[in-house]
Amino acid sequence: MNIGLFGGTFDPIHRGHLALANAARDAYTLGRIYFVPANLPPHKPAQTISLFSHRYAMVALATSGSRHFLPSLLEAPVDNGKRGFANYSIDTVRRLKRTLKKADRLFLLLGMDAFHEIATWHDAGALFEECEFVVASRPGYSLADVAQALPQQLRPPQLVTRPFRKQPAQGDLILPKATVHLLASLDYNVSATRIRQAVASRKPLNKLVEQSVAEYIKKAGLYQADERSPGFGTRLG
Ligand code: ATP
Repeated sequence: MNIGLFGGTFDPIHRGHLALANAARDAYTLGRIYFVPANLPPHKPAQTISLFSHRYAMVALATSGSRHFLPSLLEAPVDNGKRGFANYSIDTVRRLKRTLKKADRLFLLLGMDAFHEIATWHDAGALFEECEFVVASRPGYSLADVAQALPQQLRPPQLVTRPFRKQPAQGDLILPKATVHLLASLDYNVSATRIRQAVASRKPLNKLVEQSVAEYIKKAGLYQADERSPGFGTRLG
């Protein structure tokens, strides 16, 4: 079976995340996609994030409508995220793979903004050995940009990628030690940052998140302008 792993802060999970997962599922016939909220995401220091339990609850609500989508506790903290401890994707991927069959194919789902930073991830080269990537493309990125974002040891020489500077980031990039599938731009102009701002300024959320997630945000008092609200957890950094 083809299996997807979609990690993120999910603070909160929104329609852009679901659009990416649906597009990846359709394109690569993913029988299952695990949505994995990160405990303390290594790439988001110095930011206030909501408690793991809130983010997991919202992921569970948003994924309940699809039989292919599963909320995952693969990165669950032992203390609801109150103590600083970062999860590395390579460890999560290896943990998941131990539960899969040999014939299963694992795809790591990412947005282009996250992929752009991939070379800075812990043991990034090993991640490409363990799974294939599915990246949601964005206007303005070329195939050469995608190749140049790879960890140094996997990156083709500039001489090779230069001719692809004008070619939009679409299709598949298949190199000896890295496979990156590019999903056509989803054009989902939504981010969790925008949602947190919308809540703080009392704007409606219905176009940005699932109804159940909007209700949870309200019920739990998340993202209020007053940071003492119960939704906020740990100040990082
Ligand atoms: P924030 O605004 O707090 O930075 P975010 O909206 O980017 O959050 P994350 O949980 O950090 O959400 O993202 C998880 C993954 O989803 C990342 O790989 C990111 O690139 C991708 N992603 C986020 N928003 C979108 C979107 N609108 N379309 C496609 N991919 C997205």
